[in-house]
Amino acid sequence: LLGADGSIAATIFAEMSALATRTGAINLGQGFPDEDGPVEVLEAARDAISAGINQYPPGRGMPVLREAIAAHQSRFRGITLDPESEVLVTAGATEALAATILALVEAGDEVVTFEPFYDSYGAIIGLANGIHRTVPLRAPDFQPDLDDLRAAITDRTRLIIVNTPHNPTGSVFGPEVLQLIIELAQRHDAIIVTDEVYEHLVFEAQHVPIATLPGGRERTITISSGGKTFSTTGWKIGWLTAPAELVTAVLAVKQFLTYVNGAPFQPAIAVGLGLPDSFFTSAADTLRAKRDLLSSGLTDAGFTVSLPQAGYFVVADAAPLGHPDAVEFCRSLPALAGVVGVPITAFVHEDRRHEYASLVRFAYCKRTSVLEDAVARLARLN
Ligand code: PMP
Ligand code: GLN
Repeated sequence: LLGADGSIAATIFAEMSALATRTGAINLGQGFPDEDGPVEVLEAARDAISAGINQYPPGRGMPVLREAIAAHQSRFRGITLDPESEVLVTAGATEALAATILALVEAGDEVVTFEPFYDSYGAIIGLANGIHRTVPLRAPDFQPDLDDLRAAITDRTRLIIVNTPHNPTGSVFGPEVLQLIIELAQRHDAIIVTDEVYEHLVFEAQHVPIATLPGGRERTITISSGGKTFSTTGWKIGWLTAPAELVTAVLAVKQFLTYVNGAPFQPAIAVGLGLPDSFFTSAADTLRAKRDLLSSGLTDAGFTVSLPQAGYFVVADAAPLGHPDAVEFCRSLPALAGVVGVPITAFVHEDRRHEYASLVRFAYCKRTSVLEDAVARLARLN
């Protein structure tokens, strides 16, 4: 995690946001919305502060939020959970992932993820002294090859980390892939961790939570967060749901990471989880229009675009524009076009970077006027 000179290496998101601030470029790098989410949720946080909910909440999370998480899983997924023992509130999905990996991975255990992978997976597997094995996702559809999956999961595998809908590619895994992951986890006695933070931001595809498939629930830790669904990424309210003994194992680590967090934000996210279905569908519809706007702008500018099925991001190939190296390209993009993106190599191990060398991730979770401006700027590349 340290640079060659002993300094802390900034995450790719922090580096690219700093580049945008320094150059005044439009920041389509780090994935965060530039508009507030539902007023009911914002008001509930203000009300909670006024009502004095400002001290340490309970270790597993405030009952009102744990109940709302259980009710959400029942309403949208048909899963009945005990909010006392099968739900844990965390400091964002990031802490849920970190506490899970640190709790369950012993030095030398293998952890399988898909590649490209969200950057914190690799970092925490490293902190746990685990061995990180990957299954590649390749353009244009970024779905795994089933034989690659069979080859990667063995008796040495402790955890299989699934991320559907996927960051950075926006792919959504279908039931066939997920059912095979369950079968392999059963055969090799591995635990499945599924990061579903984009669960409600799905367009053409259907999100299938792996815990809803036969054999899935009893060996799966499902992770999500309020950040994406309610446009509150700075609140850092996440959660996991799992069989009670897995929750207990993760809690043992979680209590010494952050102990607890975000007291007034917890009841506010509970309000969000209880919003009517129309809120969730309109959030996806609004984002789909933004995806279309940026994706067609990138295509017109000369990129080859893989249309994402979900999430905040579109992957675009800069090679047709004469830019084979996306790292170089992203560094020069503020000067070339006044826009910031993130090279996909930031989500890929060193030995596989050449396969993804010219791909750039752009975030479209921005106001329409900002995206229109970005599209006009990107047209300069052509
Ligand atoms: N997982 C994925 C796939 C993400 O994209 C992100 C960032 N939004 C996180 C986890 C972290 O979520 P949080 O901000 O709730 O910690
Ligand atoms: N999840 C966000 C992204 O992928 C960034 C979160 C962060 O900066 N750690 O852009």
